[in-house]
Amino acid sequence: MHETDMTKALILTVRDWWESQPDRPNITKIHLMVGQFTCVEPAGLQFAFEVQTRQTFLENAALVIQDVPLVAFCHPCQQEYQPEIGRQYACPTCQAPMDDIRSGRELKIDRIEYDGAEVGNLTPNPATTR
Ligand SMILES: [Zn+2]
Repeated sequence: MHETDMTKALILTVRDWWESQPDRPNITKIHLMVGQFTCVEPAGLQFAFEVQTRQTFLENAALVIQDVPLVAFCHPCQQEYQPEIGRQYACPTCQAPMDDIRSGRELKIDRIEYDGAEVGNLTPNPATTR
């Protein structure tokens, strides 16, 4: 996935919400959950966000990235485990290959802070979802 496109989708989602607010609030922070298994570089995302929000309604907003660890579930062992990204994608107990990912693929807005309040569970812009 490409950070520039991800950032565009993110900004569109936030803008949809912002434009639906009658008072056009001053957004201060966007909390983003980024799974470790999305292959998105947080630093690249920060940079793209900074570039794309220049002289926009998000110019003063900060992007706060929360890492979501990769967690998989092993059915034979009935347990969750954390695969080692780039090294070992199998259950540490029985070596079964990873086939059930429980978290780590998220890429979503957790919440937005604005004018001393916050909002969560934003619905992504339909045009930007696959
Ligand atoms: Zn196992």
